[in-house]
Amino acid sequence: MTNLLNYIRTIDGFPKEGISFKDITTLAKEHAPFKESCDKIIQYFKDKKITKVAAIEARGYVWGGAIAYQLGAGFVLIRKPGKLPAETLKESYELEYGTDTIEMHKDAIEKGDNVLLFDDLLATGGTAKAAVNLIEKAGGDIKGIAFVIELTGSLHGRDKLDGYDVFSLLDIPVEE
Ligand code: AMP
Repeated sequence: MTNLLNYIRTIDGFPKEGISFKDITTLAKEHAPFKESCDKIIQYFKDKKITKVAAIEARGYVWGGAIAYQLGAGFVLIRKPGKLPAETLKESYELEYGTDTIEMHKDAIEKGDNVLLFDDLLATGGTAKAAVNLIEKAGGDIKGIAFVIELTGSLHGRDKLDGYDVFSLLDIPVEE
């Protein structure tokens, strides 16, 4: 067992002042902690009859594909606007300044799919909540939401995902 937290690099002031960026590339590039982080999520969701893993561009794809493969599930791409070629469902959400949008192919998830949503990090929860709305619009049944990192404290991201089974590998407190 490794302390996965040791593999997370913090870069203060990226991409702009005031943000303490949690860099997961330093974890992903090492086989043992990468495998361990995938395995823990797979272990938690292995009996939930997951049929689709949906992950959010781009860092979500790194774990999402490996998790889907091991769970015997399909993989669904949730992307930034204008990247998916066929007909999409869209969902917009509030940022600190302005809004952002994510998209998913209309036929990516069907009614009756048991979906695990994955992203690398939970901060305010705006992105994950928008992804939840997309999946549910398509008729998917969300069986869980997983993150490598959950920023805890003042952001209250988990509150936006109230009622869902939220599993995060590492809790990192946010300084006020
Ligand atoms: P949020 O919608 O506020 O929960 O933000 C989550 C999304 O933004 C995830 O896709 C993260 O990759 C990214 N993100 C937000 N805050 C950070 C941070 N401090 N470090 C790294 N990524 C972040």
